[in-house]
Amino acid sequence: MLLTISTTHFPADDLSFLLHKHPAKIQSVDISSGKAHIFYPELSAQKCTAALLLDIDPVGLVRSAGPKGNDFALEQYVNDRPYVASSFMSAAIAKAYSSALNGRCKDKPELVDTAMPFTAKLAVLPVKGGEVILKALFEPLGYAINAVQHPLDTTYPDWGNSRYFTVELSHQVTLQQLLSHLYVLIPVCDNDKHYWVNQEEIEKLLAKGKGWLETHPARELIVRRYMKGQRSLANQTLDVLLSKDQVDADTAEMESPGINDAEEPQLRIHDLRLLAAKDELLSAGAKRVVDLGCGEGRLIKLLLAEKQFEFVLGMDVSYRSLEIAKERLKMDRMTERQLQRVQLIQGSLTYRDKRLQGFDGAALVEVIEHLDEHRLTALEISVFEYAKPEVLVVTTPNAEYNVRFADHEAGKMRHNDHRFEWTRPEFEAWANRVAIQFGYAVSFKPIGEVDPEVGALSQMAIFKQEESGL
Ligand code: SAH
Repeated sequence: MLLTISTTHFPADDLSFLLHKHPAKIQSVDISSGKAHIFYPELSAQKCTAALLLDIDPVGLVRSAGPKGNDFALEQYVNDRPYVASSFMSAAIAKAYSSALNGRCKDKPELVDTAMPFTAKLAVLPVKGGEVILKALFEPLGYAINAVQHPLDTTYPDWGNSRYFTVELSHQVTLQQLLSHLYVLIPVCDNDKHYWVNQEEIEKLLAKGKGWLETHPARELIVRRYMKGQRSLANQTLDVLLSKDQVDADTAEMESPGINDAEEPQLRIHDLRLLAAKDELLSAGAKRVVDLGCGEGRLIKLLLAEKQFEFVLGMDVSYRSLEIAKERLKMDRMTERQLQRVQLIQGSLTYRDKRLQGFDGAALVEVIEHLDEHRLTALEISVFEYAKPEVLVVTTPNAEYNVRFADHEAGKMRHNDHRFEWTRPEFEAWANRVAIQFGYAVSFKPIGEVDPEVGALSQMAIFKQEESGL
């Protein structure tokens, strides 16, 4: 398993001072799971790359772990640990690059606080929850992400993708920041539940997360995953984190309407939907977009952060929600110019509305299930036939997933106001019929980790007008 860190900061070979690792020789350190080797595949004043190669001893690992009450005994021997970036990589970073991680540089102390253009490349990073999680973790910190997802088996493309990515993260930061982000977020991506965490991890996480974790929008997900889902450790950590950063409006913002996923409560499953919808609209090249049933304006906030979207319209039937949206978007404090880019209107999706015409992108995120099934026909006509956006992203809960909720009761829906919740075949049947009827092509994507039996938490359909220019 390989982690390379490159910089083009001039003179780039300063990296060797920062890492406290001599550029002319290969160095090795022992870690509990094997050995880590440090060397420089590239070294000049223009560009320098340091490599950390992790050589895990799988048999040693099993021995040191002692006997396990594992259901699948072979798993101790047959697993991905030697080949992927995991908590072992974090341990290797802490050991091999400890001075840099702790912000010390003996010979050139002024470099410690110098932000440099870095690219970190992880040869194989397992990401539970896929690219959306990767983005939710690294983008708020300012990283540009280049991720390639690997298929499960190239011989059987039908099996789909694995959870393994080759990832490049680029950003102008200090080396200490880069290393602490990697130290915390690699195991969070991996989310392996098979090792033990204890009270000491709270200190470690707070130390490495200092200065960025408090304000990270996915801090709750990060802490819960880092603590391996151990509620009491996670809650203690969050108490400390949040006591500094008084729970503000943003926390309420994270609450997802009606979702009570026991494992990752407000993970912001809802944020995943919003990010997925935003990404689809971005990649479709949409410029004028309308958020149908925009609620409290969460998606609009994300859309406005993207320059590509020249105009964003939010519409909802609820006046109260629109008022909250207006506050959330701080519309009172917007300049004339900013106000030309966004508008909120009240209306109902079951009536034809001229104001919804002429958009190239539209979103219907967790809205259809709030309408009585027989009112859906009216929505279909006003949205697909009358408003006719070139691209439309629709998300709705996947009812099959409900059995995975800790407090699931047969037949119970996720939210009091849901009129129906569809299984994947039900949603696909509806979407395929609508697509044919109104001249759209449709494709589907799961949102969240895909459970092999019941699928993902939420499901998304992407409609594109057959003759769309997008
Ligand atoms: N899309 C938002 C809100 C989802 S909640 C989000 O993802 O955060 C569902 C929203 O649909 C509510 O705000 C509700 O007021 C709105 N809604 C329900 N029926 C509607 C209708 N007929 N026309 C417009 N909006 C409707």
